[in-house]
Amino acid sequence: MVKDTKYYDLLGVSPSAGENELKKAYRKAALKYHPDKNPSPEAAEKFKELSQAYEVLSDDQKREVYDNYGEEGLSGGGPGGMGGMGAEDIFSQFFGGGFGGMGGGAPRGPQRGKDIKHTISCTLEELYKGRTAKLALNKTILCKLCDGRGGKEGKVKQCGSCHGSGMRFVTRQMGPMIQRFQTVCDSCQGTGDICDVKDRCTVCKGKKTQAERKILQVHIDPGMKDGQRIVFSGEGDQEPNVTPGDVVFVVDEKPHDKFKRRGHDLSYDCELDLLTALAGGDVAFKHISGDYIKFTVLPGEVIAPGAQRVIEKQGMPVYRNSDKGNLLINFTVKFPEDHFASEEKLKQLESILPPRAPVEIPAGAEVDECDIQTIDPRRHQQSARRDAYDSDDEEGGAHGQGVQCASQ
Ligand SMILES: [Zn+2]
Ligand SMILES: [Zn+2]
Repeated sequence: MVKDTKYYDLLGVSPSAGENELKKAYRKAALKYHPDKNPSPEAAEKFKELSQAYEVLSDDQKREVYDNYGEEGLSGGGPGGMGGMGAEDIFSQFFGGGFGGMGGGAPRGPQRGKDIKHTISCTLEELYKGRTAKLALNKTILCKLCDGRGGKEGKVKQCGSCHGSGMRFVTRQMGPMIQRFQTVCDSCQGTGDICDVKDRCTVCKGKKTQAERKILQVHIDPGMKDGQRIVFSGEGDQEPNVTPGDVVFVVDEKPHDKFKRRGHDLSYDCELDLLTALAGGDVAFKHISGDYIKFTVLPGEVIAPGAQRVIEKQGMPVYRNSDKGNLLINFTVKFPEDHFASEEKLKQLESILPPRAPVEIPAGAEVDECDIQTIDPRRHQQSARRDAYDSDDEEGGAHGQGVQCASQ
């Protein structure tokens, strides 16, 4: 009869749980509450308790003491009375070096499988609203029929020649030299096991693994960023005696043709007609939320080309927060075409617009009276192109024209 079930409850298993069940429960819980994944103080406390529970229950002697006498029975008694092993030590012993240790260092405990990385491409609209993507994952799992043993229970024995490693060291004397090399174990053909053909698993044929297609639901939450990782712990390929790695999705934000994102803020290039820019009017455009943004340029307010304004709280949602960033508006002004008004009408502008800038030429200076012409790239851009690009690239013409206009 178990006196106290607290440790079992923490791991979410029954007091009759076997070693494997305990391991699985600890793995699942520890990954959830590990400080690297869950920085809250509650999680840190929970992680410590979990590790303590697992340390006791995974040790037959300690588990027996705990079952008979409860927490008090353990050395020192009470919480924190564990044999001096920190939660992080237990974790890294279990997983072979915590999250930081992936791929580096010398892992202890079970080997850890490779992480599988996928890129998940998202539009700005999707990162604004969030979405759920269903993705099919082709993975290797332990054979379901034989539980990864490769044959009937009790009929698969560890190979005595290689002690289950599948490889053997062979020493050979060649003249004065002794050569030592590794070779595939010939007793078990490298499988590490000995199993009679009639006892071999019919599904995996002794390979211990099988292929599986699994659908993963990937939740893109509002406000997620380019490069952000969505981790499915332990969903990597399964192999005997290997802790599966994670499946990691990395958000790849597609560029938007109207909106740009900088952190939580969005910016939008807004083109105004000249009348609205000078005399005010209503402006509207479609936001990535799907709604329309509408605002009024008030009469008297002048929006010059290149002017910026901000609309608060219309930027990106902040990840796992109800707040939003701001929306910056970058204005350009579309000028009317040539001859948009008659000469008499244009005269009226003189009574409205500020006066022309006076022509300033010092007295006595030489003056060349010139004409301005429309630029013809073939006739006017040769020298500019050669200087700027040092090439005969025909496409350079259009580009060169833009540069020329901007500097005039
Ligand atoms: Zn062998
Ligand atoms: Zn099998």
